[in-house]
Amino acid sequence: MGCFNLIISPSLDQVWAFYGRIATMEIQISGLSKTYGTGSKSFQALNNINLTIPANSIYTLLGPSGCGKTTLLRCIVGLEQPDTGEIRIGDQIVWSAEKNILIPPEKRGLGMVFQTYAIWPHMSVFDNIAYPLQVAGVAKETIREKVDAVLKFVQLEGLGNRPAPHLSGGQQQRVALARALVGEPKVILFDEPLSNLDAKLREETRKDLKKFLSRLNMTAIYVTHDRVEALALSDRIAVLKAGQIVETGEPQDIYFKAQSRYVADFIGRANEIPATVLRHENGLTIVSTGMGEVACATGSDLALGTETTLCIRPEMIRLYRAQLAESDTNKLTGSLDELEFVGEVFEANIRIGEVSLIASLDPESNPALNDTVELAVAPRHCLLLSR
Ligand code: ATP
Repeated sequence: MGCFNLIISPSLDQVWAFYGRIATMEIQISGLSKTYGTGSKSFQALNNINLTIPANSIYTLLGPSGCGKTTLLRCIVGLEQPDTGEIRIGDQIVWSAEKNILIPPEKRGLGMVFQTYAIWPHMSVFDNIAYPLQVAGVAKETIREKVDAVLKFVQLEGLGNRPAPHLSGGQQQRVALARALVGEPKVILFDEPLSNLDAKLREETRKDLKKFLSRLNMTAIYVTHDRVEALALSDRIAVLKAGQIVETGEPQDIYFKAQSRYVADFIGRANEIPATVLRHENGLTIVSTGMGEVACATGSDLALGTETTLCIRPEMIRLYRAQLAESDTNKLTGSLDELEFVGEVFEANIRIGEVSLIASLDPESNPALNDTVELAVAPRHCLLLSR
């Protein structure tokens, strides 16, 4: 698979005018459940999903393999029928078990880009892109006008007559994108479109895709198990676990203010330290841990004596510098047990009392193995999570 490799240039104004006609849509999902199979072989893939996807946002469904992301996407598109619940796209209910409504996929006004290109090898580029319009019975002249506009948009102008297999992987992916866009969908959906790319190409493509989606002003739903992709690309993220949504939020909130260990672990590396609530003081929650007392900006609702988990991101641990410290809160002393230079940072293991912390240290701090070091962690980066 290749990349979209989109470079947006001002000379495409005409094409933007074409896409400017697209209305953006909010999507509302309520009480959605889906079970595959029956009897002892049945499997509940989705369990009471409630979700609002705001119009004109890039919304990512993130979670490990098998958590139900693709099933949810396929229910929205209409390729799977849920058992219960309702799906609303804009003002239109496209599925309701209770009201007995089922709008078929082709009438939902959606465009989809799959992990594989799903390009027909026996057709030209033009015919691949024109296909959804031909099936819908659109007039020939209008088809030509729309396909030409979208070809220009994905920068495949002049390649319409080429057999689809005679394109590079990246160009074929752009054909898939063009085909998803040509019907002027209300919403565009992506099912792991970058997962077959190598790391470098994936990063470039992700950036292009983000630029492209924000210019397009369209609601987009994006499925991935890749946390970096989700953080970099999304306006909002829903994290799924075993068929349920466990948390939703903006990328930075999901990363820095996760509510559960599951989400904190899934979205990035974390130190997780058993902790007991000792007292509340000056708006902070003081916990006792194997490395001493730590003040946390979260946990004001936790009763004294509560057993909890203290979560600290490795990059939020700083070597203490008196002149730079915001305060002496959470100043800790430890020994540098392991140290590895990995380019942008030193990856360190710091022993403090009974606790071994992983820390990503600034190379400028010039750490050395077996040093005794003073550390500082701001209370706002000390997160208390349910165990
Ligand atoms: P991945 O990232 O691996 O694609 P996912 O989060 O998208 O995973 P789904 O494909 O939605 O997960 O599958 C959710 C669960 O439902 C999985 O346990 C899967 O095995 C099961 N499942 C999916 N499709 C079917 C099917 N047609 N019949 C039976 N079980 C299915």
